[in-house]
Amino acid sequence: MMEKLKRASDWALRLLYPSRAVCMGCDSQSGFPRPWLCEACRVRLAESWVGAAKPPEGGLFEGAAYAYRYVGPAGSMVRNLKYRGVWRLAEPMGRHMARAFETIQPTGADCVVPVPMHPKRLRQRGFNHAEKLAEQAAANLRLPVLKALARTRNTRQQARLSGAERRANLDGAFTLDMDVKGRRVVLVDDVCTTGTTASTCAQTLLDGGASAVFLLCFAMARGGEDE
Ligand SMILES: [Zn+2]
Repeated sequence: MMEKLKRASDWALRLLYPSRAVCMGCDSQSGFPRPWLCEACRVRLAESWVGAAKPPEGGLFEGAAYAYRYVGPAGSMVRNLKYRGVWRLAEPMGRHMARAFETIQPTGADCVVPVPMHPKRLRQRGFNHAEKLAEQAAANLRLPVLKALARTRNTRQQARLSGAERRANLDGAFTLDMDVKGRRVVLVDDVCTTGTTASTCAQTLLDGGASAVFLLCFAMARGGEDE
């Protein structure tokens, strides 16, 4: 009886106060219809669209695409996925990444490889956000995900290092776990800042015989465009 009453009152409460989602772009609780961005953030997100863009220096990538610049709502979405563990964000984020990648088609890409996380950091965080994005982007692109790369050293965070330090920090940090000979790989990460991590991964894939590497990230934070 109590259970029935409780269900009835829950139902009445839901009628009076429809569930209010928290905006993943600005944290507002304004009761918008879609579950992850308010209208203002949706507009700002659309304004920061990138699509196909210049790959990081070094000539390792055959092409690159980014869904958005790393500003405003796009930055908040990355942080919500990464640090607050809002996994379900990977679904819309991966979908938008696939749309960005389609702007550089035809690429002949045949698999998606996420930038790996060191096992120790993976244990701390519980999941590899790049892998979640890779799975969703791959599903939208109808490509298989290959967890071909492994991180053998738990490197320092790249963010505060200079260019030379970044490269030294990543020297020998990745190995191949899988045969990638002749594969045309879409390398996936959440954010691309200087591209050092992505380039090191690309070099490892190319050394292993991959015939092409494309870069696909949710956000591009380059040339002081970091917020
Ligand atoms: Zn918002």
